[in-house]
Amino acid sequence: MHCTIDTLQIAGKIRENIWKIELVCPLTQPTFWIYPPEPSFLLSHYQFNPTFLYRPHVFLWLSHFFVEKFICPKCQNSTLEKNGALLPHRVTDMEDLFYIVSWAYYCIQGCHSYFSGWNKSLIGSLPAYLCLAFPAVLSYKSGLSNDVITQLRVGDQHKMGPSGVRSLLLEMHTLKFNTRLAQCY
Ligand SMILES: [Zn+2]
Repeated sequence: MHCTIDTLQIAGKIRENIWKIELVCPLTQPTFWIYPPEPSFLLSHYQFNPTFLYRPHVFLWLSHFFVEKFICPKCQNSTLEKNGALLPHRVTDMEDLFYIVSWAYYCIQGCHSYFSGWNKSLIGSLPAYLCLAFPAVLSYKSGLSNDVITQLRVGDQHKMGPSGVRSLLLEMHTLKFNTRLAQCY
């Protein structure tokens, strides 16, 4: 929230490297997440560049690795083909941000529809073990993590309301930012 790094620059870097990222099949590393190095490790090696200290974590959503056929959720009778990398989608989490990296898909032999990897109907067509792993609810340009959505629901049930949750997120994001800052001194 208070990160001074140009997030567009980071998004561009992620996009530049997505071709390399695709080579790292999630099946060979059993996690969807790519975490940056811990600041303590970098600082102990005198790497003080804030770009590295505030690098976001990335959720690599390449669901085509997990299903034999990627069936078009619209026409239901054709297989989707990969159609290139998407711009990373920024998501607000409890104490920082993360980016979702995914691919676009195209129904080449059926209805000729395009789908982003995080398309709701596309995710809904996946097996439960896969679609329930998706970590966020997305809007057109942004999104909230499932943890933030849960916090909003609990806040609503206990009269905290959205402004209370906003204050909580502000506190937690600021705390993480200030902790990083304090680690540098
Ligand atoms: Zn189709």
